Amino acid sequence: MVCKTMGDSGNRIASHAWKGDSHMLDSFGRNINKLRVSLGESCNMACTYCVTSIKDHIPDPNVLSSSDLLKLVSLLVQHSGITKIRITGGEPLLHRDLLGFIDGVRQQGVESIGLTTNGLNLSKLAVSLKEVGLDSVNISLDSLDAENFRRLGRAGRLERVLEGVEEALNAGLRIKLNMVVIRGANDHEVVDLLDYAIERGIELRYLELMRMGPLFQTEKFPLFSMSEILELIGKHYTWRKVDAEHDATAQRYWVPGGYFGIIPNESEPFCSTCSRLRLTSSGQLVGCLSNPTPTSIHHLLNQQEVASELNERVAHSIAFKEPVAFTGSNLGMSRIGG
Ligand code: SAM
Repeated sequence: MVCKTMGDSGNRIASHAWKGDSHMLDSFGRNINKLRVSLGESCNMACTYCVTSIKDHIPDPNVLSSSDLLKLVSLLVQHSGITKIRITGGEPLLHRDLLGFIDGVRQQGVESIGLTTNGLNLSKLAVSLKEVGLDSVNISLDSLDAENFRRLGRAGRLERVLEGVEEALNAGLRIKLNMVVIRGANDHEVVDLLDYAIERGIELRYLELMRMGPLFQTEKFPLFSMSEILELIGKHYTWRKVDAEHDATAQRYWVPGGYFGIIPNESEPFCSTCSRLRLTSSGQLVGCLSNPTPTSIHHLLNQQEVASELNERVAHSIAFKEPVAFTGSNLGMSRIGG
């Protein structure tokens, strides 16, 4: 089936095609098969680059129950070519029915289920998360210095995150660490974090800062770029670039003892291979972080026949995807789930 829709974003026409029942290609040939599901905006941290204060995390009054959200996920898996799910937020480990939700997603028969967390509540949940079917966890960790951690995150204790990392390793979860590198704030910790990750056999990914939320249109954007990260690492490690999956957001590097990645949001945007769709906790689809115009699908919960309308809405949503580069947004990442 092939159809064309007109996106509201100017005159861009997005055509998309479902190959058989399982692949959905957009007009740029991107196979949109990854879904990020936000379980809610609540968070127990207030990272300086994500929000202006902890009060910015206003729970959405229209948040769906986890069983309704699960039904929407299942529709997207059945009808729209989604094969990989990542659970995010807000902070997903704060969600009361997280384990039930993962269990339900597991029963959809998807290829993989991942979760992104700040790790504060991970040590007590790691074993249950593994048991219920979670495959992998990305833990955000911007500093190994307790004071700096607190300065950047405005809340939470570093020690708890480090315990979470150990428990997740013991539970057999695949782990990645995410470090957002910010000039003048934690760039001096680039190598420390890599040492820490390599010692534990974990892949660390450096995230270039994105112009979102409080950083959108800021005059002094404290970007610490991919080339600067590589230069710093090069003083301590020999590194070599290796292949990454074609739709990976990270460029991947080998160093003696392990690998690391860099997600070069600013210096080498990867929108042309982006395969992600997002579902917010109130049942809105978001195709692109740069154009976070939501397309609602929650009314489909009450419909019998959903396939054609659902796919029309998915197509509308992905029509907003940028072809080449992220252009920034005033919406904070915790509102859409990254
Ligand atoms: N609470 C979870 C966590 O801390 O990982 C999940 C939600 S958080 C919004 C998802 C990811 O977005 C985190 O790794 C965070 O560091 C990243 N993030 C938030 N704002 C960002 C920005 N302006 N630039 C780059 N990454 C950002």
